[in-house]
Amino acid sequence: MTASELRVENLKVSFSGENGRLTAVNGISYCLKPGEILAIVGESGCGKTVGALSLLRLIPEPPGRIDAGSILFDSRDLLKLTPWELREVRGKDIAMIFQDPMTSLNPVLTLGDQLMEPILRHTASTRQEAWDRAVEVLRSMEIPSPAEKMKQYPHQLSGGMRQRVMIAMAVSCSPRILIADEPTTALDVLIQAQIMDLLQHAQEQTGMSILLITHDLGMVTEIAQRVIVMYAGEIVESGPADELFQTPLHPYTLGLKNSVPKLGHKQEPGKRLVEISGNVPSLNQLPSGCAFHPRCPSVMERCKTEKPVLREVDPGREVSCWLEEASS
Ligand code: SF4
Repeated sequence: MTASELRVENLKVSFSGENGRLTAVNGISYCLKPGEILAIVGESGCGKTVGALSLLRLIPEPPGRIDAGSILFDSRDLLKLTPWELREVRGKDIAMIFQDPMTSLNPVLTLGDQLMEPILRHTASTRQEAWDRAVEVLRSMEIPSPAEKMKQYPHQLSGGMRQRVMIAMAVSCSPRILIADEPTTALDVLIQAQIMDLLQHAQEQTGMSILLITHDLGMVTEIAQRVIVMYAGEIVESGPADELFQTPLHPYTLGLKNSVPKLGHKQEPGKRLVEISGNVPSLNQLPSGCAFHPRCPSVMERCKTEKPVLREVDPGREVSCWLEEASS
């Protein structure tokens, strides 16, 4: 068995709604290896963010509830830690950055105060040492005039700069794992690429592992070593990033790939990218059989009634699709 930084086993998460409990994450298992960048990809509503938030027990309970599973980190199950033990892990060992930095940054505190807070809380630094460390991480995020920025407030920065500050704050205590939930969605394409470069650079410098949650398969294949594709709360395909992108096995992965703009290819005016038809099913009305079957261009009769299971088809590659069984 490969050494893992984090091992998620059979994680199930549900939410209470008007019509009873809805399962948002339905028994997913994976491991994040030391020093790797692992991407979890899927459209909105596929369960990827709920799954990521559950790792640090950040889903609101109620209405959310972790129904089953384990999240092993350092031989401890994060689901069994006391709130105090979990606070120690958050920020120090496992840090998280979110899509919108404005929801995480406090508008009435200077960036310096906010950057120094986790350093003072998790390390034995003096205020001067915390200040120096904060300036250092801002500089490592290629933020110009970092000492000046320490005295500014979040609203004085652009969206891209705020996201850099969030990453700086997350890596300031040298976490072993960084969970990045759609870290570039609110930014324009050029800034997105810069933020991805920074994340990759930070990983190379620190050796931390990164769990990258995104809807954009194209964006992650450049920097992730492995990719997990989720649909309707379950893993439908996983494998090395380059293989999965070059030869997707699941029709949903192929749809995600086809919706990625091709670099260097000029899009014809008026022509849209090929997208996956239909919508992600609502959690209280999941289709029978394969949950993707109403949208699948390769659907077969058995797909409508029989649910495929995730199975390994090649070393390191898993897929849940009847097509794969038919071809093997
Ligand atoms: Fe499509 Fe059938 Fe495969 Fe589901 S099992 S993805 S419906 S071919």
